[in-house]
Amino acid sequence: MNELVTRSAAQIARDVNGKRVSAREITAAVLQRVDETDDRLGCYLSRLNELALDCAQRADRRIAAGETLPLAGVPIAIKDNMCLRGTRTTAGSKILENWIAPYTATAVQLILDAGGIPIGKANLDEFAMGSSCENSALGVTRNPYDLSRVPGGSSGGPAAAVASFQAAIGLGSDTGGSIREPGAFCNVVGFKPTYGRVSRYGLIAFASSLDQIGPLTRTVEDAALAYDVMAGHDPSDSTSINRAVEPAANALREDLKGLRIGVVKEFATAKLGPEIDALYKRAYRELADLGADVVDISLPTADYGLATYYLIAPAECSSNLARFDGVRYGLRVEGDDVGQMYERTRAAGFGPEVKRRILIGTYALSSGYYDAYYVKAQKARTMFAQDFRRAFEHCDLIAAPAASSPAFEFNAKSDPYSMYMMDYYTIPMSLAGLPALSVPCGYAGTPQLPMGLQLAAPLFEEAKLLGAAHAYERATEYASKAALAV
Ligand code: GLN
Repeated sequence: MNELVTRSAAQIARDVNGKRVSAREITAAVLQRVDETDDRLGCYLSRLNELALDCAQRADRRIAAGETLPLAGVPIAIKDNMCLRGTRTTAGSKILENWIAPYTATAVQLILDAGGIPIGKANLDEFAMGSSCENSALGVTRNPYDLSRVPGGSSGGPAAAVASFQAAIGLGSDTGGSIREPGAFCNVVGFKPTYGRVSRYGLIAFASSLDQIGPLTRTVEDAALAYDVMAGHDPSDSTSINRAVEPAANALREDLKGLRIGVVKEFATAKLGPEIDALYKRAYRELADLGADVVDISLPTADYGLATYYLIAPAECSSNLARFDGVRYGLRVEGDDVGQMYERTRAAGFGPEVKRRILIGTYALSSGYYDAYYVKAQKARTMFAQDFRRAFEHCDLIAAPAASSPAFEFNAKSDPYSMYMMDYYTIPMSLAGLPALSVPCGYAGTPQLPMGLQLAAPLFEEAKLLGAAHAYERATEYASKAALAV
């Protein structure tokens, strides 16, 4: 493997800005890496070779003219639910299989303006609904640590791309865990900022009150770098937050002295089996060894997370996906009248999980059931925010598992509920809008596969969160102790 592809985003940016290597050389090496490995991995749904080389040339020219670019020459994998003008943007769905985005998402534009190089559009569960990438209608993505296993989801494509050195930064989206869980499965850092921190403009909506863009990277430093580029107010997204962003790259720490880290009583890991239980207990000890005061906290509503999420997310999805009806976007299957055209288009265009969610959501919003389901779920959601607020009176950060198991084999989860359970530990933070990340914390199972430690912070405390994760990563270095299968 060419050493250039193994460099972190921060290293690449430093070297390209310092003219020690060109963006063109980095890009050529990464494109070759994708050529050599993506047949087996399936990270990308669309390759952007020509655009990548153009962007590299532009970055080199800007640097020659005296500019410094925060992401100079950094190869980027973009989850294919983010628009990039002039490129196919599918959301992993047949309904958008040939849809060309007419504009560029704000987060993507910020990355490109900073000198990032778009390598390709990466695979995902259809409309970001899933935890394994198996719901993609357009391709299979394999876990780079074990090709018989899933990469996680829904941001499985970007996670696998970053893990396998096909990109240094993956742009993912997280609604209930879709950055953190694939991050854990692929042994990379997966970071979901506070809801509203990064603009959703140009992100194809799944559940608008939960969706958030964030980075997948091989180091916490790179996550901070990408976050600092993407975070900030965007008038094009009415839910984007207008509040100063504390740069995270300056907050990276080497110890955890003076921090109280809460371990959630209701998340007892004993039920995950002795090996995983021991792994998380070790992780909490490692936090203490770094100087943190590890305390017990309680989230009394924890067990209601899945029920609450699986009303709110489908309700919002049923509304958001109503626009895919054959009239304006993507696929159209003709019928005798407009009603039949809608029916045929949606029957042919959506996969089974998307249809299931539209049905659940429509039901939950229908008159007569609205109060019993949707309104009640909204009330439960408020309780999550209150629970966390109370918990954060006793701690600065929360530590928890990122997922309940390592990556599983294809077709291992035969019923929807067992797939939904994958997000048991990530959904509560999503419902409360909190920033949260997953950082590699060791290996479990046979064969030994990566696991992730989830850390979460109060709203807007991204800098503190990334700072602490950096100390943990530096002290443990779990990510570097695994063997890639490619
Ligand atoms: N796995 C969860 C779901 O299927 C979360 C997905 C996401 O975060 N986009 O809804």
